[in-house]
Amino acid sequence: MYRLTISKQTERKIASGIQLLDRPEEQELPDHQGLVDLISQKGTYLGRAYLSPQNKGMGWFLSTEPVTLDVAYFVSLFEVAKAKRQAYALDPGTTAYRLFNQDGDDFGGLTVDRYGDFALFSWYNTFVYSLKEVIVAAFSQVFPELLGAYDKCRFQGGDSLSGHLYGQEAPETFIVLENGVSYSVFLNDGLMTGIFLDQHEVRGRLVDGLAAGQSLLNLFSYTAAFSVAAAMGGASQTTSVDLAKRSRDLSRAHFDANGLDMANHGLVVMDVFDYFDYARKKGLSYDVIILDPPSFARNKKRTFSVAKDYHKLVSASLDLLKPGGTIIASTNASNLSLAAFKKQLAKGMGQQAHRFAQVQQLPADFAVNPNDESSNYLKVVTIEVNP
Ligand code: SAH
Repeated sequence: MYRLTISKQTERKIASGIQLLDRPEEQELPDHQGLVDLISQKGTYLGRAYLSPQNKGMGWFLSTEPVTLDVAYFVSLFEVAKAKRQAYALDPGTTAYRLFNQDGDDFGGLTVDRYGDFALFSWYNTFVYSLKEVIVAAFSQVFPELLGAYDKCRFQGGDSLSGHLYGQEAPETFIVLENGVSYSVFLNDGLMTGIFLDQHEVRGRLVDGLAAGQSLLNLFSYTAAFSVAAAMGGASQTTSVDLAKRSRDLSRAHFDANGLDMANHGLVVMDVFDYFDYARKKGLSYDVIILDPPSFARNKKRTFSVAKDYHKLVSASLDLLKPGGTIIASTNASNLSLAAFKKQLAKGMGQQAHRFAQVQQLPADFAVNPNDESSNYLKVVTIEVNP
């Protein structure tokens, strides 16, 4: 077995329960990929890990035991993961959720989602990808009720490898349920699927009437899933803004899936920053504004980074918010702590009286490693303005 001597700092991190192995400078990356024994500076055996660089690390700690990654190993991981999510499996109103989540389920570099009768695997590095057959054999043993699967290769150079993985083929687009609401999804078209499953509790609050009888502006709306949830929860009017042209048809598909009339639901293909100007000029205002930008974006006009620029979204939103309105501010940036995110939000609020009414993070199916704050990457803060 390849032996890797690790720094005191890495040893401390592992002892504290962190599984992700930090990525060193490029020239210091070990040239070995796969299973390794970790050795302390003093020469003692610490446990087993696997090495395979991915965007946020160089590998994952596995166990203090000298484990081997065979079918039995993954069967037992999948069985534990399945048991954790029994409440979801028993809910007929929800057929899409996460089945396996990286280090939250004790194996980093892999996620599996359920979309109705199908599974979607995401491989985050080439070593996990090389274990595909073993992992699929274990998974189909634990989840025989799923008819087939697709996969996404989320490592460099993996783009063309994604596709159908095993079993039956899914229709090009099909309907899944969440909190009783229908969403139109696709598993075989790029890395996206039509819905971000990690936001299901936020959509759940909207379905439960958070914006009932109110107007809602959904910025960075992608397929307008928040708007559809709000509409199903009784919102009187929604406007969804995204700069991707494709978002319009995908949004329509979600509205159509629920038989919603578009009369009170606008879909705008526009840069959010241009929309702020447009709406201000038109004197438009809303009761609820949702912000869910990508962590980092660059276009011809500007770059946007959540860590530096989020406050600008908040202050611009204040101009469009009705008195006593609500801003729901979301980010999935794992490198931004909740405390730092709240600082950005407070900066955007300036002198405006407000209250952070609720903070939501990942739902239970997106199991996190409780010892690694960065694994709980999602942060959604509900801000009551002028409460
Ligand atoms: N809120 C969505 C997910 C947003 S993903 C949901 O719940 O499903 C981020 C989206 O921001 C992408 O669809 C992307 O097209 C869009 N986007 C990125 N920069 C933008 C900009 N400057 N203006 C408008 N949309 C933008």
